[in-house]
Amino acid sequence: MAGRFAPSPTSDLHLGNLRTALLAWLFARSTGRELLVRIEDLDQVRVAAASGLATRQLADLAALGIDHDGPVVRQSQRLDLYAEALAALDTYECYCSRREILESAQAPHDEHHRPYPGTCRDLTEAERAARRAVRPAALRVRAGGVTATGIDELYGPVSGAVDDFVVRRGDGTYAYNLAVVVDDGLQGVDQVVRGDDLLSSVPRQAWLAGQLGFAPPTYAHVPLAVGPDGRRLAKRDGAVTLSDLAAAGVTAEQVLARIAASLDLAEERESVSTAILLERFDPANLPRQPWVVA
Ligand code: GLU
Repeated sequence: MAGRFAPSPTSDLHLGNLRTALLAWLFARSTGRELLVRIEDLDQVRVAAASGLATRQLADLAALGIDHDGPVVRQSQRLDLYAEALAALDTYECYCSRREILESAQAPHDEHHRPYPGTCRDLTEAERAARRAVRPAALRVRAGGVTATGIDELYGPVSGAVDDFVVRRGDGTYAYNLAVVVDDGLQGVDQVVRGDDLLSSVPRQAWLAGQLGFAPPTYAHVPLAVGPDGRRLAKRDGAVTLSDLAAAGVTAEQVLARIAASLDLAEERESVSTAILLERFDPANLPRQPWVVA
């Protein structure tokens, strides 16, 4: 039994990411699970632009007292596993716009991504040959709009139609939805705690787990951190990473207390450790509104 935290190494973890990591740790440890850390570095362009980030992210987790089990796994080292899984699926080539396909390598972080209308589903071989000459094909899995359901500890059953989503981009990069399901399945992850901007991925991922012979995990989608303007927390909101805060004289312990206070697990200025928070943690009392970082 294991939970996991799976950052993409494209920017430093901010208070919202750190809070999600703490929650993944609390959910896992309070249920006797291991906590695995997986670096989701499949998008080599974005990762290369931000080199060294994974190391900093791991250091930040350690600084807060969020420990983990086993070796840290990197998706870029697991391409054979994704290829093998892909081969077991019923897929077809898709030649639709670059933008649409690019979006698929990353977690969507958006409830509104549109279902694929099936444009390339039933092309003839001649049509495929013609389109392939214009643009390298992505691969989509044939799900055909079937309804699938996953169970979320906070939201209950999450159901939705599963469209023919991208499992490999035209540039050969495996898509987020494929990699995440393969990894969670192979790593024995049965509890997925992450930001609630990924709630809409539940039907697809639960369905895909079933297709690949894995039991879908239980999910817990937790509220995001937002800036004073209500938008998702970001650099523009000032000192929001551990290194920014350290430069402003705020220690990691104070950051932990601040995050804990936002979860109603401590007073703002209390001296706490993750071990103390674990004793106090009860998912039923988790605040369900976004955390406004002011
Ligand atoms: N790597 C994704 C991110 O950074 C998280 C995906 C997941 O937890 O399923 O947002």
